[in-house]
Amino acid sequence: MSLANGRSYLAIPGPSVIPDAVLRAMNRASPNIYEGELHTLTHSLIPDLKAVARTDGHAAIYIGNGHAAWEAALANTLSRGDTVLVLATGRFCIGWGEIASAMDVTVQTLDYGDEAAFDLESVAETLRADTSHKIKAILAVHVDTSTSVKNDIAGLRAVMDEVQHPALLMADCIASLGCDQFEMDAWGVDVMVTACQKGLMTPAGIAFVFFNDRANARRGDLVTSYWDWQRRVDPAEYWMYFNGTAPTHHLYGLRAALDMILDEGLENVWQRHARLASAIWAAFDTWSETGSLRLNISEPEKRSHAVTSCAIDAPHGDALRHWCETQAGLTLGIGLGRQPSSGYFRIGHMGHVNTQMIMAVLGTMEAGLQALSIPHGRGAVDAAAHVIAQHPTTT
Ligand SMILES: *Cc1c(COP(=O)(O)O)cnc(C)c1O
Repeated sequence: MSLANGRSYLAIPGPSVIPDAVLRAMNRASPNIYEGELHTLTHSLIPDLKAVARTDGHAAIYIGNGHAAWEAALANTLSRGDTVLVLATGRFCIGWGEIASAMDVTVQTLDYGDEAAFDLESVAETLRADTSHKIKAILAVHVDTSTSVKNDIAGLRAVMDEVQHPALLMADCIASLGCDQFEMDAWGVDVMVTACQKGLMTPAGIAFVFFNDRANARRGDLVTSYWDWQRRVDPAEYWMYFNGTAPTHHLYGLRAALDMILDEGLENVWQRHARLASAIWAAFDTWSETGSLRLNISEPEKRSHAVTSCAIDAPHGDALRHWCETQAGLTLGIGLGRQPSSGYFRIGHMGHVNTQMIMAVLGTMEAGLQALSIPHGRGAVDAAAHVIAQHPTTT
């Protein structure tokens, strides 16, 4: 007998929960790709994607996942032998750097470990030392999904300006767009990459690269026809948006998802994520009064609002995840890139999530901790409820 039967919740940090409206929009016969509704719909996505990215720059869509967007950003701006600076705050920026290495780009890494944001003073020092401007781009992850740290992208731009370094600022917003506040133009980001399966609430399969004129002018020798972003922006012929057949159903799904974000209002979406994240943190503050369960990132202002990385004495992490999945229908995320992996787990709370879902996650975790006799402070759900209850009511 299991209490898991019923509607399940995949609370991993991507893919995220797909809204019924998105699923409904995708549940249709294939549309004509040569003319008609699909063309109008695709044109309509571009300004709305740019609105969510807070940019007046350009947007290119790729059929692919986040890794495709990583590669596209590098291919359009760099040449073999160029150097990029990777600001590693977890698994993901390291992964972006590995892709650069495989493209014959030299990778210089500043590694800040698995529990901290990047430190602007050390970045400034590195940039000052680069007097010949060997570094052509800085690769930064806004929210690293493995550690759940949120980095200060605006601060990074300020440092680059202060030392007058001409490198491009490239930001990975795969885990943060549509969740945490991000302002591409105001924060001086030259290239931003994201994908559709996290804050954008669409099944994995399309990815986006946003870029400004400055980045566009940096064309190097790595660009190839398929990855060329110039072909994809304002294309003369519709098929060039995707360099081939359009990802038809994903476009319908994304249209529905963007409608939901814009109807709610992007600022409201950010605030919802912020408040729900605060409720999770309040629960952890209580749980961590006894035992080993704790948040990976200690400073609240450096925590993501979309994913929470948690540490616990091994092997409790695996045991708790297993209990939640098999006994309660709740799937938590694995401790990606951490050792021992059973000493870590993650909660995804990005996109289509609301109070009852977050309270269910916390209540289920509480039950699991009790069932498994894992030491923890008592009253965590109550503490989370208190945060939610303080939220000003809206109609
Ligand atoms: C999910 C994620 C990626 C990788 O995206 P894929 O779609 O799995 O290729 C990269 N960076 C961050 C910050 C992510 O959260």
